[in-house]
Amino acid sequence: MKRMVSASAAAVSMLLAGTTHAAVVPDYQLNSSWYSNAQNAISARSTSLSADSKAKNIIVFVGDGMGISTQTAARILQGQSQANNQGGEENYLSFEHFPHSGLAKTYNTNQQTPDSAGTMTAMMSGAKTKAGVIGVSDNVNRGDCDVSSERLVSALELAASQHKATGIISTARITHATPAATYAHVSERNWEASVPEECVGKVSDIAYQLIHQAADIDVIMGGGRRNFLPEEVTDPEGSTGRRSDGNNLIEDWQNFHRTGQYVWDSEGFNAIDTSSTSKVLGLFNSSHMEYEADRDDADEPSLSAMTEKAIDILLNDTHQQQQQGFFLMVESGRIDHAHHGGNAARALQDTIEYSNAVQAAIDKLDAAGELDDTLIIVTADHSHVFTMAGYPKRGNPILGLVVGVGSEQPSLAGDNKPYTTLGYANGPGAAASFDAGVRTDLSALDTKQLDFQQQALIPSGSETHAGEDVAVFARGPQAYLIQGAIEQNVIFHAINQAADLGGNAYVAEE
Ligand SMILES: [Zn+2]
Repeated sequence: MKRMVSASAAAVSMLLAGTTHAAVVPDYQLNSSWYSNAQNAISARSTSLSADSKAKNIIVFVGDGMGISTQTAARILQGQSQANNQGGEENYLSFEHFPHSGLAKTYNTNQQTPDSAGTMTAMMSGAKTKAGVIGVSDNVNRGDCDVSSERLVSALELAASQHKATGIISTARITHATPAATYAHVSERNWEASVPEECVGKVSDIAYQLIHQAADIDVIMGGGRRNFLPEEVTDPEGSTGRRSDGNNLIEDWQNFHRTGQYVWDSEGFNAIDTSSTSKVLGLFNSSHMEYEADRDDADEPSLSAMTEKAIDILLNDTHQQQQQGFFLMVESGRIDHAHHGGNAARALQDTIEYSNAVQAAIDKLDAAGELDDTLIIVTADHSHVFTMAGYPKRGNPILGLVVGVGSEQPSLAGDNKPYTTLGYANGPGAAASFDAGVRTDLSALDTKQLDFQQQALIPSGSETHAGEDVAVFARGPQAYLIQGAIEQNVIFHAINQAADLGGNAYVAEE
């Protein structure tokens, strides 16, 4: 192998130089760890090309707001926390080892920089649509009541009708835009617990759709308990419901699923018998679940724990006697929220836990002998205006001030003040960044503390999404379908083809 590399390099070299001297890669180059590790990475890749078989199981992981800069910074933060780190930059998030990847174009049909409702509808239903609408076509306008003739069938719905077990997990409210696009059809993402008076009788809110009208999803875990309870009801954590129609959707679910398990905290979660339980509804917070950095394991399960539990249930005998594989959607819903708050530390901690959840799924499937039959796609719905700036030296703390090569002192910007590697183009950080047009001096601040808001240029109450592409990683049967720069709605078609879900386009006969 080494000889072939050397020989072809020599041929190229001769052509370029017009000489007969053969270029030979010297030992110090061959033996450098950079050179040999990269060659090993290519060798491993050529033996892990995905089989052309059919995907029995499908898992779609969505890091909400996990742009590529977020991925890079999280990879470094995780690397810097490890015992033998060489700076942190050499680290990989779990899914960055997947053999196939591409870039997804995220725009909505009416918006250059997208929102989660339109992007997740594209990924789940195979067609782009407008920002703010869920599971309906581009013909619908935000706020339309009757969308019955414009519903888009989702990959989860197709999987359920193909007798696959199904699950959805999110650290956000389970009625929030991303998870909702797997099961709901509504023209307004904010109609989580009610619809406007003029729409009553024409369309139901998202929580009602999940319990009464959607495909019967086997495992549902996330936040958003308040959207399932009437206003008069106080939940065990002291929060009141949000429903004005008087429906108690948790009781409705329990009546539909007499042997199902409703759980609302870690104790109930830990007590689920995954070998025999076929239906689970887990609502672990009144609103969104906690950020990973703030989470108390005694109160709420982690994204990894929920992912493992869901896979155990979807693969148990109760399911697999009647069903052929499963479809699972796992969302890390709050990378996005931390970025909107201009708070990199929480966004990165949630991204690291997202990576842990992907690894947990791989380990679980491997132990169950199901890994080779599972198509796993890991992606994001959109990016954020989050950036890594300056020329920090290798190993410089990723949440710290920029310190350059050969220096122990922070690098100074044009205003003679230090600056952080991580920053935002806009957002709430701008308010504290400038006083009468003069940038705040960060010298005395600990920018690595959890609550620190990175500096931002343009003031806005909420930092915004960004419009550049996001990465898509894939492994498993027909994972090679993910490559190059693709429209985001191609992801659905890769799943549809790999798992033969039956959602194929057809030409109408005359
Ligand atoms: Zn967002």
